[in-house]
Amino acid sequence: MRLVTSAIVLFSLVLAADASAQQKPPQRGIVNVTGQLYRAQNDNHYTVFLVTPEGIIMSDPINRDFGRWLKAEFATRFKVPVRYVLYTHRDWDHASGGVVFADTAEFVGHRNMLTALAPPAGNPPLPADAVKIDVNKNGLVERSEAAGAYGDRFALFDYNRDDVLSGAEIARGSISDVLPPTVTYTDRHTVTLGGKRVTMTYLGVAHADDSSVLHFPDERAVFSADILQVKRLPGGLAPTVGAWIDALTTINALDYEHALTGHALAGTKKDAMQSLQYLQDISKGVAAGIGAGRSLAEIQKSLTLDAYKGFERWDTTREAHIAAVYATISGTRPAGPAGSR
Ligand SMILES: [Zn+2]
Repeated sequence: MRLVTSAIVLFSLVLAADASAQQKPPQRGIVNVTGQLYRAQNDNHYTVFLVTPEGIIMSDPINRDFGRWLKAEFATRFKVPVRYVLYTHRDWDHASGGVVFADTAEFVGHRNMLTALAPPAGNPPLPADAVKIDVNKNGLVERSEAAGAYGDRFALFDYNRDDVLSGAEIARGSISDVLPPTVTYTDRHTVTLGGKRVTMTYLGVAHADDSSVLHFPDERAVFSADILQVKRLPGGLAPTVGAWIDALTTINALDYEHALTGHALAGTKKDAMQSLQYLQDISKGVAAGIGAGRSLAEIQKSLTLDAYKGFERWDTTREAHIAAVYATISGTRPAGPAGSR
């Protein structure tokens, strides 16, 4: 009996700890980068904004709750409205919640954002992780079946709000709270306000096919979510390592000092150069291994990329990155999920 009781107590404690972790308010803050350029935090996500006498140019809204918080901070600290929201890309965890600023702002994103945000189309089958929770095997995920990300973000997946997720809704992603851009561009686009400039440059197909880097020329700063990382390896190298090398090369062709990221640390151009060097090193290392007739497992063992040992995710992603590059170079494929951050 005592054993049972202590087991129950322990279980309750675990539940309580879990509940308090969930209820913990998000970590939020605003840090000045330089001049009137700021970086704002919502837990593991970051955005940036530039204050001008005529209003604010900001990047990703992240989500509604954070957007409301940020809007209140803007009202008390700067007393000017948001005039532009410049999207880094469509992903739900960066681009949601723009509706908070829709009363005063224009929304700018790469043209491919519109395609990504279009209504779910076709009739694709459920992905493997959704098949697993489709208990009644009807090829749909009902709300009662939804677990994991599908449970957590059910409403964001459920485009037509019929309480059921189809394969097409899942393929589209949990982006129902992403306000589509009102202005789109193809290669490069400059926004001017209150004597300040911000230029958006298209980054190609690395990570997503609608990514922009924001360049603040007067502040000598860039902002990119998910592609630019500081002392942190990318979540995945989809669709190809070449696309990632191209994207980082585009970023580093800009004149800047401050490397501002959508996750974790911010840094300098030197950090961004190191990230590009990692991609080149892994690419060359895998190609050399294939040239020498080594197997994937052998290359994963020998290509340790020690120079990046101190980087976040080196221990958890190095082998997967090598596998992705190996598949690309040897022409075999599966490069992993496209949505990894
Ligand atoms: Zn993303």
